[in-house]
Amino acid sequence: MLKSDNIPTVSKRIEAVQSVKGTRDLMPPETSVWQRVEEEARRVLRAYAFREIRTPILESTALFARSVGEDTDIVSKEMYTFQDRDNESLTLRPEATASAVRAYIEHRLFNEGGLQKLYYMGPMFRRERPQKGRYRQFYQIGAEALGSDHPAIDVESMEMLVLLLEQLSVQEFTLLLNSVGCPRCRPEYLKVLRHALEDVRANLCRDCQRRAVTNPLRVLDCKVEADQPIIEQLPRMADYLCPECRQHFEAVKDGLESRRIDYRQAPRLVRGLDYYTRTTFEITCSALGAQNAVLGGGRYDGLSEMLGGPPAPGFGFAIGEDRLALVVMDSIAKQLELGPLAYVAWIGEAALGSAENLARALRRQGISVEISHQPMKLKKSLGTASKLAARFAIIIGEGELESGRYQVKDMTTGQQTEIETNQIERYLQQNSARAI
Ligand code: ATP
Ligand code: MG
Repeated sequence: MLKSDNIPTVSKRIEAVQSVKGTRDLMPPETSVWQRVEEEARRVLRAYAFREIRTPILESTALFARSVGEDTDIVSKEMYTFQDRDNESLTLRPEATASAVRAYIEHRLFNEGGLQKLYYMGPMFRRERPQKGRYRQFYQIGAEALGSDHPAIDVESMEMLVLLLEQLSVQEFTLLLNSVGCPRCRPEYLKVLRHALEDVRANLCRDCQRRAVTNPLRVLDCKVEADQPIIEQLPRMADYLCPECRQHFEAVKDGLESRRIDYRQAPRLVRGLDYYTRTTFEITCSALGAQNAVLGGGRYDGLSEMLGGPPAPGFGFAIGEDRLALVVMDSIAKQLELGPLAYVAWIGEAALGSAENLARALRRQGISVEISHQPMKLKKSLGTASKLAARFAIIIGEGELESGRYQVKDMTTGQQTEIETNQIERYLQQNSARAI
């Protein structure tokens, strides 16, 4: 209970509480773009037989320490971790692949046999330096296919992503592809990499000087500009793949080529998480500027076992929804219909009943309609319709009531048409090319 003397007395104005740094409110009309992205993602994911999973935002800290890896940026400095009242260490999830695999094990989905294809969407939390396209609460749409190491799974997932981007009219993007090998061939590469790093270590950034010792693969993922020329010269994993990994990588590349999916090999693409094996990939969009990775993913054949489950090779990806929405915003901004499809403008109390009936009938058909609850003159009513950015105004006055034909005004062209009451719905549907 708050005691009244604990409440500060305010003389002038109370300072407004602001949203937390790195978080933001998604407001209309931006939320329309997000809805469009999510609807299209669900449609495409369903078409590829993925089913939705919803896991908690709170997880045991150990889940990420064991999967993402202790020496990744995410675990070592970006997680929102706290001790719960019973001293259990909890973390706001920084990503959801680990959660999906935990749920796969916890619900024994492996007993169902075959491939389990799951997708999720929701907020993730990383304490990064906020900038355009990088937030502390951000959103991902991700999918995981568990139970097979077949390269066709990798190819099919990338095909699906390209389709999604095309459906969203995203024009310019690049698919970057690499293989990071497996626990059999990677140690040999790491030995060579460590050795090469000894010579150049002193010239790298502070983080990389540490990584060179603790987790040399992470050096390849460094974003510091000055380190890039040095990183370019380091040995490549592709030259150290074991025959099985090499064959797998070739099969993925062949699969992409036979489906005419363009890609570029990116020998340093290791991604920021430790659990990846074999295929890693990323899709970048130049329109995004510095934070240009719109999505990323790859294969994680050992993750289930790392989390105490049975062997269950997997492939997955996460789309950065904030970044995808930014790209899509540009491409569909012009098609965006921000207001209701129709505004019902009734003139005179006698028209109110008919106006309300029409609004209800249209709304039952899923048509977005706004109606005034106050009597207004025609001019003010049309002014409201245009302020709301309604596509059409339906005018119902005394004359319209008598004739049973309403005036439908196209607010973009100003053209007015008389329509039979029972034809209005059809007219609206036919005359509006709505993207959303
Ligand atoms: P980046 O290289 O941009 O830091 P990442 O390698 O950390 O990305 P993943 O962990 O693989 O990214 O997450 C997949 C996608 O999620 C990224 O491609 C990006 O679009 C998005 N993403 C990651 N971190 C953030 C963030 N802090 N804010 C917004 N989007 C993010
Ligand atoms: Mg990152």
